[in-house]
Formats: sequence, structure tokens, C-alpha cells
Amino acid sequence: MKKINLFDITGRVMVVTGAAGVLAGGAARYLQSQGAFVVYLDLFQEKVDATLEDARKISDQCCGFACNVLDQQALDDVCKKVMATCGKVDVLINGAGGNMPGATVGPDQDVFDVKLEDYSKVLDLNLKGSVMPTMAFARIFKEQGHGCVLNFSSMSSPLALTRVLGYSNAKAAIDNFTRWMAAEMALKYGDKLRVNAIAPGFFISNQNRALLTNEDGSFTERGQQVINNTPFRRFGEAEEVFGTIHYLVSDAASFVTGTVAAVDGGFSTFSGV
Ligand code: NAD
Repeated sequence: MKKINLFDITGRVMVVTGAAGVLAGGAARYLQSQGAFVVYLDLFQEKVDATLEDARKISDQCCGFACNVLDQQALDDVCKKVMATCGKVDVLINGAGGNMPGATVGPDQDVFDVKLEDYSKVLDLNLKGSVMPTMAFARIFKEQGHGCVLNFSSMSSPLALTRVLGYSNAKAAIDNFTRWMAAEMALKYGDKLRVNAIAPGFFISNQNRALLTNEDGSFTERGQQVINNTPFRRFGEAEEVFGTIHYLVSDAASFVTGTVAAVDGGFSTFSGV
């Protein structure tokens, strides 16, 4: 049998939103290190510049632009710039996301204290912030006849996580959007257009560090609850999402669409008992 590498992503053009972030940014640099040409997108130019400085240490196979994923004009402009620079787009990774205190129930609050304005902002960023870039780049995928989208879901989607309202609602909708878009794309444009999601479990990040760890590095009560409900008995390391992402955006997953892949140390499979 001829030797083939289903994971070969050399020369693939991959656009990553929220690319200055911990998980998405780490994955973007990993994919670049494996031969992909990565387009780093994030909200502010300074963040993009700092990210690109690191990325250029890996290779010259990168560029970056400031782009608000909720700004249609900015997305259309970026699509044009990427096509002008690269001539094609193979993969879109929707990494932009985040939470706000007002969209959660604080430790001394109850459900009635959630601020609906913040709730809406969190829904927008985590749901529309993936839907809008997907729609923008899917036009290119349709023209090319191929393309792959990877969304970021979360463990706050399948099971109720106390306190986290807006973010959980949005991530549950991301699971649904992933399945919906996967079916629509394939039925209309064929089996070279794929849409999947990754659902990371608990990783210490900028969003949740204060919620899960104390200043001395020990776990908060909530952090300990997470560990108790994770069969691996630890938080994930950012590098541990890279393999699943690599698989989903490569030809190794050519018959895979509409899936939400958990990378969670067993959190979503464990009853806690
Ligand atoms: P992060 O918070 O480290 O980074 C998010 C990035 O998104 C930031 O660089 C921010 O500037 C950018 N961003 C925010 N609003 C934006 C906008 N309007 N337009 C463009 N960019 C914007 O997040 P991360 O750890 O890289 O997480 C990636 C994805 O995975 C997110 O959707 C997150 O919700 C999800 N997730 C993270 C974890 C975790 O533990 N880190 C767990 C589950 C899911």
C-alpha cells in the first residue's frame, strides 16, 4: 500500500478568529508549525501584532488582521484580504469567545440577578461571533467546492453548569449550529464542505482562572468540584486540544461532519458517582 499521511496539512490556508487567545491561539501556532499557512484574526491590532511576532518565529507562513467577528463589513473585508493574499481558504476556526460576569449568577446572587444586557452580549459573541464568520467564509467554500469549519463548544453545553447562563446557552446553540450547518453545506454543496466542533473540558484560561484557582495556585471550591467530576482528576493543558483540532481539519476526518468532539478528561461521560 502506498504510504499516505492523512494528517498532512502543508500549505492549507487556515483562518483563526480569537487567535490571540489561549486555546485558539495555541492551536493556530501548532497548525502553522505543522505546515499550514495561518491567518491570525483578533479584535485589536495590538493583540494581532503581538501574536504575529510569536507566529513569525515558527515560519513566514502567516499573516494577521484585526477583525471584530460581530462586524459584517470587517468580515467581508478580511475575506477579500485573505483571498488576495492566499488565493484560497481551506479552514475556518471560530475561536473568538468569552464570558462576562453580568451574564452569570454571582456567588452571592440568584438567577434573577442576571443582567439581560450582558446576557445578550455573551450570546452575541459566542453564537453570532461564530455564525457570522462561518457565513462569510462559507461563500468562499461554496465557490471553491471545498472548505472546513471548526467551532468551539464547551462542557457548559451538554450538562447544566451552575451559575454560567449566557455562555452555556450560546455554546449549546453552537452544537446545534454545527449540526445544522454541516447538513446544509453537505446537502447543497457536497461532501468536501465540512463543519465540526470541539468541546474542551476545563482548561485554566484568562476567562476562568479566578473562578477555578486561588492566588496561591490551590483550587477554589468550584475548581475542586470540577476536578472531582473529571475522571482524569486534573485540568487540561492547552496542547491537549491540538491533536483533535488537527484531526478535524485534516483529510483524516474526510467523512466526519456535524460532530462535537469532547476533549475533557472524561468530564462529560462521568455521573460523578
Ligand atoms: P481566550 O479567552 O483565551 O481568547 C479569546 C479571544 O477572542 C481573545 O483573544 C479575544 O480578544 C478574542 N475576542 C473577543 N471578542 C472578540 C471579537 N468580538 N472579535 C474578535 N475576537 C474577539 O479563549 P480560548 O481559551 O482561546 O478559547 C477559545 C474558544 O474555546 C472560546 O470560544 C472559548 O469560549 C472556548 N472554550 C474555552 C475553554 C477554556 O477553558 N479556555 C473551555 C471551553 C471552551
